[in-house]
Amino acid sequence: MSTERKRIYADNAATTRLSETAYRAMLPYLAGDCFANPSGLYSEAMTAREALFTARKRIAACIGAHSDEIIFTSGGTEADNMAIYFAAVIGEKWGKRHILASPIEHHAVLNALERLSERGFEVEYLPVTPTGYVESDAVWNALRDDTCFVTVMTANNEIGTIQPIRNIGEICRERGVLFHTDAVQAVGHIAVDAGKDGFSLLSASGHKFHAPRGIGFLYVRDGIFDGDFPALTVGGGQERGRRAGTENVAGAVGMSAALEEMTANMAENAQHVGRLTERLIGEVLLRIPDVILNGSMTNRLPSNANFYIEGVSGDTLVCLLDNAGIVASAGSACTSGNLKGSHVLKAIGMDDRAATQAIRLTLGEDTTDEDVDAIVDALAEAVARVRKWM
Ligand code: PLP
Repeated sequence: MSTERKRIYADNAATTRLSETAYRAMLPYLAGDCFANPSGLYSEAMTAREALFTARKRIAACIGAHSDEIIFTSGGTEADNMAIYFAAVIGEKWGKRHILASPIEHHAVLNALERLSERGFEVEYLPVTPTGYVESDAVWNALRDDTCFVTVMTANNEIGTIQPIRNIGEICRERGVLFHTDAVQAVGHIAVDAGKDGFSLLSASGHKFHAPRGIGFLYVRDGIFDGDFPALTVGGGQERGRRAGTENVAGAVGMSAALEEMTANMAENAQHVGRLTERLIGEVLLRIPDVILNGSMTNRLPSNANFYIEGVSGDTLVCLLDNAGIVASAGSACTSGNLKGSHVLKAIGMDDRAATQAIRLTLGEDTTDEDVDAIVDALAEAVARVRKWM
């Protein structure tokens, strides 16, 4: 009998395990006979083209969109970069160079905006509440005649706060301004609906909902472009000229299977993961002194728990938890190991030092009550150890 201790994965916001359904759906395109380039003229290529067509249709159906509105990308970063670039090109055409953004966006958005500001765009950051919430009134008040687009994420990757994207979408529609939402943490986990939510552009990433890494998509609302599409990559004309490069057929097929499964089980998953997260939060706050929940108690992604732990560096905790068999994060995957502290925590009012003293635990559909018990025990022990050294 193996005595190896089970490791507990609590970093589902960084990436998720490939689902069995996605894996099986991908196999013929990955390792079987269906490997042809979809641009060919022979029947094998036709099979690949049909697979792409079906994957696009299934993905579109999961977010209330039309197939033509989906562009496959390599993931969330590329979808975000594309969206920001497209929106800026359209804005520039209309002579508009003012952009509104939340300051707690992922760096895939923030760094793209930085590039635009170097090119003469004016990027204005919206206020956020101490729980990381962007009030829709703040968007209304900050909009100007020369605003070309608004970008506010659907849900935050570090503290899990869910934004009022339906209200922001309505405001942007009424004021005739494009609205991009980075829904990388939301798609597959909470409902997003192109018919109701009013976004013009939406970014998503497969590996956040049990598809493989290296595939994502950008939703582009039909009719927001007149004239040529301002593609970021040019070449062979794939994706109807909107994103050149040989398509990742297996990835698209896997992503459609994973998203369909997550969408079908969304309510049940949210209920299960939400209950466990609530218990995790309650027990951590009860058992460990001088801990605060970052973000909102109620308005957060079902899987997200992010704690400020006074006097204890998040990076140290991640290492101690790793030794105890728990996989966690000190912030987002991309800011982990960044001694300057999380930009999200600073934006919600924490100072530089406090912004390095956080731990993010993001549960998944396969997390159990026993896992939660083990996480709480390990965290309590790690915090006590660090505090003893101080
Ligand atoms: N946007 C958000 C909110 C994210 O959480 C991430 C990844 O963590 C990204 C964008 C980037 O996505 P990808 O890793 O697929 O490039």
